[in-house]
Amino acid sequence: MKTIQNVNFKNTKALIRVDFNVPLNAQFEVTDNTRIVSAKPTILKVLEDGGSCILMSHLGRPKAQESEFSLRHIVSTLETVLGVQVLFSSDCIGEEAQTAADNLQPGQVLLLENLRYHSEETKGDLGFAEALSKLGDFYINDAFGTAHRAHASTTIIAQFFPVNKCFGSLLAQEIESIDKVMQTGEKPVLAILGGAKVSSKITIIDNILDKVDHLIIGGGMTFTFVKAQGGHVGDSICEDDKMELALEILEKAKVKNVQIHIPVDVLAANDFSNDANTQIVDVREIPKNWQGLDCGPKSKAIFHDVVQKCKTILWNGPLGVFEMETFSSGTIALGDSIAEATKNGAFSLVGGGDSVAAVKQFGFENKVSYVSTGGGAMLESLEGKTLPGIAAISE
Ligand code: AMP
Repeated sequence: MKTIQNVNFKNTKALIRVDFNVPLNAQFEVTDNTRIVSAKPTILKVLEDGGSCILMSHLGRPKAQESEFSLRHIVSTLETVLGVQVLFSSDCIGEEAQTAADNLQPGQVLLLENLRYHSEETKGDLGFAEALSKLGDFYINDAFGTAHRAHASTTIIAQFFPVNKCFGSLLAQEIESIDKVMQTGEKPVLAILGGAKVSSKITIIDNILDKVDHLIIGGGMTFTFVKAQGGHVGDSICEDDKMELALEILEKAKVKNVQIHIPVDVLAANDFSNDANTQIVDVREIPKNWQGLDCGPKSKAIFHDVVQKCKTILWNGPLGVFEMETFSSGTIALGDSIAEATKNGAFSLVGGGDSVAAVKQFGFENKVSYVSTGGGAMLESLEGKTLPGIAAISE
């Protein structure tokens, strides 16, 4: 894997695809600078080598050139994070961008306007990619969040840099973390899959059964498995049309010698509400009109033991409706267990949408080995797909 560590960028104009798709408030101020901070090591490496950086990104999903999606809004935050002045071009291609890039001196940083102001970006247009490629003489992809898209700036552009291309440090870290879980990680390997529906995780489960020794299935998915085995799930979320699939998964796991762990008890509620009445019940005996919204104490203890004996841990998806405090304790307990295992030497990767939100909300961010920055890209990697943005650099 060729990364920025293998390259000296002295006198090089590095064209870097970053992911600055950050949240803004009503005053267009950056409310979470995580993604900007994450891109800093790659940018600083180029500058410290004596090169310059041309940064390109998308922001939101503009339909036209709407000013609310302008990357100009993030310039001051970027300057604060990097500690250097940032130049800005009000278009990502064309005369202004080309002149700004041509005049760029070593040590300088130029940020281009939102790539998605041009519909050619998401279409993966070759001519648009070529125009972008003319701005720099080395291409770095450091945007994991869009690595699963064959867009002009994430994938198509790479062909204009047959040799002069590599992964940025963030993207390299993402790839290494996923590889640890899927290929090189110390055994026993554990995957924890939670969240709402079997249907959205089925490809991941299928792929991951070949990679792991243990699989914890939690959250709303639990009930499809429980009902398929004859349990009573009351009003719990359940995909009846996926019950056969659930049984197939259990069978496959047996053949592949993967131990599956499903909650044995749940915190059931008489309403989908933080103020509902609740009771702990056996997962197979949830009363009529009640629904399981979190895992129960026995399940937490079982999961804790499984987590402690594993050396490589992947966590995707909450174990309950963590957005409501009443049903957050299963997810918090799991976070605690993973934090403890990590402290004792396990490698833990958290990724994919809601689990990242949960980890941040409950303060586990610095207690796990790695928190992925890409939602969809992470899920597609776990499904075993080759991401186009990664393939384009590797070729
Ligand atoms: P996903 O995007 O598939 O990872 O699903 C995340 C969502 O699953 C979160 O919004 C949770 O509130 C929800 N969830 C977790 N457990 C349950 C449950 N037992 N019943 C209903 N929704 C759940």
